[in-house]
Amino acid sequence: MSYVISLDAGTTSVRAFVYDVETGRFVHRVQQEVSQKYPRLGWVEQDANEIYYKAVYALNDCVRFADAEGIAGIGITNQRETVVVWNAATGEPVAPAIVWQCRRTSAYCAALDEETKRLIREQTGLIPDAYFSASKIKWILENIPETAALLRAGKLRAGTVDSYLIYKLTERKSFVTDFTNASRTMLFDIRKLTWSDTLAARFEIPQEILPEARPCDAVMGEALIGGRKIPIAGVLGDQQAALFGQGCVREGDAKITYGTGLFLLFNTGEKCVPSSRGVLTTIGYTVGNRTAYALEGSAFNAGSAIQWLRDEMGLLSSAEESERIARSVPDNGGVYFVPAFTGLGAPYWDPAARGLLTGITRGTSRAHVVRAVLESIAYGARDLSESMEEDSGIFLREIRCDGGASANGFLMQFQADVSGVRIDRPAERESTALGAALMCAVSRGLIGLEDVPRLRRNGKTFYPAKERAEYDAAFAKYRSAVRRALISE
Ligand code: ADP
Repeated sequence: MSYVISLDAGTTSVRAFVYDVETGRFVHRVQQEVSQKYPRLGWVEQDANEIYYKAVYALNDCVRFADAEGIAGIGITNQRETVVVWNAATGEPVAPAIVWQCRRTSAYCAALDEETKRLIREQTGLIPDAYFSASKIKWILENIPETAALLRAGKLRAGTVDSYLIYKLTERKSFVTDFTNASRTMLFDIRKLTWSDTLAARFEIPQEILPEARPCDAVMGEALIGGRKIPIAGVLGDQQAALFGQGCVREGDAKITYGTGLFLLFNTGEKCVPSSRGVLTTIGYTVGNRTAYALEGSAFNAGSAIQWLRDEMGLLSSAEESERIARSVPDNGGVYFVPAFTGLGAPYWDPAARGLLTGITRGTSRAHVVRAVLESIAYGARDLSESMEEDSGIFLREIRCDGGASANGFLMQFQADVSGVRIDRPAERESTALGAALMCAVSRGLIGLEDVPRLRRNGKTFYPAKERAEYDAAFAKYRSAVRRALISE
């Protein structure tokens, strides 16, 4: 038995991979798109049944490829925070899944009393926001009449996508989640590693409808796939899976995913570092009784700014072209960009902020603008990593990168220069799927935690070409542009 299956239930697609533990490579992959619904302005929904059926299809395909005899287990990683509420007897959702991006509960969250907000920060490490699961569960309880009778009958269940998939895949036997997914609900005490009685009470969410939270390497149950039983072992949220798949298991290890947005996760080891600058404290992973905490910072817009150059500005014919164009000029010509299309996240948290292009002269060319947009992605990441270094007192040695825009060599080199650290790009770009595969392999005893860094194969390393201090003046100009983009101040 040297195969494990990694199921990645993401926001836009459900994918499954067969990972060969002996060779350390994916040997099979299958992908199914997931539909999104936008029933009202700011609302985002999905059909949990669709996610489940597509997961079953993808898993069956992997089992056919590998033969169930050779499969040691199924690891699961998933879009975090998204909420499913369902009927325990039938496994049917009572309402559409409310997706992490959905803002329907933002007014409610903004109006939470100060004491509740303080408790959320202190116990969950999160910033009170509609992004996280708690207010989404509450919304379904209050707006779907069927939930009241199910609750009285003890048949109501609520959880994140992992818990719903596990419930269905185990034929309604296991009602569980893992600590990393639980840590994104705004209901989980990340130090005690239990649901918070106080927060559940404040959100009026009966605790019995929440799954049992277990370590990431726990065996969650047995999935019935194609008439065979396969253990589900190794579960973690997508950003945490990427951290693990990038081999970031030591204090000070960090990864950045450059996708539509940008996610920086920074392993702080056993230290649960409270953040003071709008960065989140979260669980990196728990293996056995060992929990590694992480600081997490995100920028809402990164690769999306490249799409904007291509689709709205017409300055690029493809995202890839941005690299060649940025390199065609020796510098940014004094142009700075702030990609605040949808407000600014950490460390500024200004939802009203909007994008800005500064320093334009008569000589500013398309190349300067393209270069400024790419540079802004790296500056945004430095803003996050500096906050985290100040919060934790731990300094970054290197950053591991993944995501679509990590293909851009100019951006990666500029990140190395402006942050003054090495940027390592792995050979296998699917860090998230790899993380779930490796967690499954750890859980099944095929590898040890100490093997994880070795199993991430490096692709290319970008070394800083100059001292970080040499970029301080330029970084200060970027920050000055950010200050001008802030509106709430
Ligand atoms: P997500 O998972 O968020 O959908 P991906 O990891 O697939 O994102 O990355 C897609 C993003 O990466 C897009 O926003 C795209 O503009 C950007 N991107 C892809 N290739 C490049 C490139 N060579 N240079 C810059 N950005 C790129």
